[in-house]
Amino acid sequence: MSLLVVGSVAFDAIESPYGKVDRIIGGAATYFAVAASFFTHVNLVGIVGDDFSEEDEAIFRGRKIDTLGLERTAGKCFFWAGKYSQHLNERETLVTELNVFADFNPKLPEKFRQSSHVFLANIAPGLQTGVLKQVTRRPKLVALDTMNYWIERTPADLRETLKHVDVLMINDSETRQLSNEHNLLLAARHIFKLGPQTLVVKRGEHGAMMVDKRGVFCVPAFPLEEPHDPTGAGDSFAGGFMGYLAGCRSSSDAALRRAMVYGSVLGSFAVEEFGPERLRKLKRSEINARARHFLKLTQFKL
Ligand code: AMP
Repeated sequence: MSLLVVGSVAFDAIESPYGKVDRIIGGAATYFAVAASFFTHVNLVGIVGDDFSEEDEAIFRGRKIDTLGLERTAGKCFFWAGKYSQHLNERETLVTELNVFADFNPKLPEKFRQSSHVFLANIAPGLQTGVLKQVTRRPKLVALDTMNYWIERTPADLRETLKHVDVLMINDSETRQLSNEHNLLLAARHIFKLGPQTLVVKRGEHGAMMVDKRGVFCVPAFPLEEPHDPTGAGDSFAGGFMGYLAGCRSSSDAALRRAMVYGSVLGSFAVEEFGPERLRKLKRSEINARARHFLKLTQFKL
């Protein structure tokens, strides 16, 4: 089994009440790949500029991440700057510089074209469809993330892409915007008509909810006293979720529920330090221990 991810590899500037960094490696595909690589082989497709050094690329080395699809071109990497509110529950985007990302036209290396699992991180829906067209065998599972920008500006493209997606993984405000429904169960029913048969709603400090035809499953966010930086939590959640499913070679209801827990585990580690720093140091034994902790968190007797 192999897991393909297509998305941003970036430099971020982040400000939260716990500190400030002017330039740290980020990007949705970066968080996703590092998180997923604890469970399975990851095929990474993205684009970086010539300001992306060997040292920067070290984040992918020594892990099960194949960077053959990481295109290098003249120019600067995608740059994003954001600032968090006092309690980290609101985020303001200060700067988005597309740079080399503006002309990104993902090309899958031959050996990535048979990936069994695909995660289309937040990029233009037209590009997401273009990626799926290059996959030669229907993947076992295709998941997609998107954002308000694409929901508002390219709704027709997004609808076309969604027809080929199994799992939609978005946050609660995006779910409501896409479906025009406030109630998340009604929103799920609307989304099922667009293509995806599983909806995973990422709800930050309130955890995550999965809805499919069989019903609803919820996981809490791991309670942390001092989260430092929520950047990349959603992508790390997606990495834990998809990585686990690709690694365990199953999409049964039981596997999907465990994937939700591993998603929440990876998301919780991501927020403990700035940028992907905590994920870089993370050990598989810590993931297992936190997953066991989730059992305790949610177990009760009737
Ligand atoms: P998240 O906190 O899950 O929204 O992910 C944050 C990451 O997404 C950061 O590392 C950014 O570099 C990246 N990012 C921010 N805006 C965009 C965008 N418009 N397209 C692609 N990636 C983005």
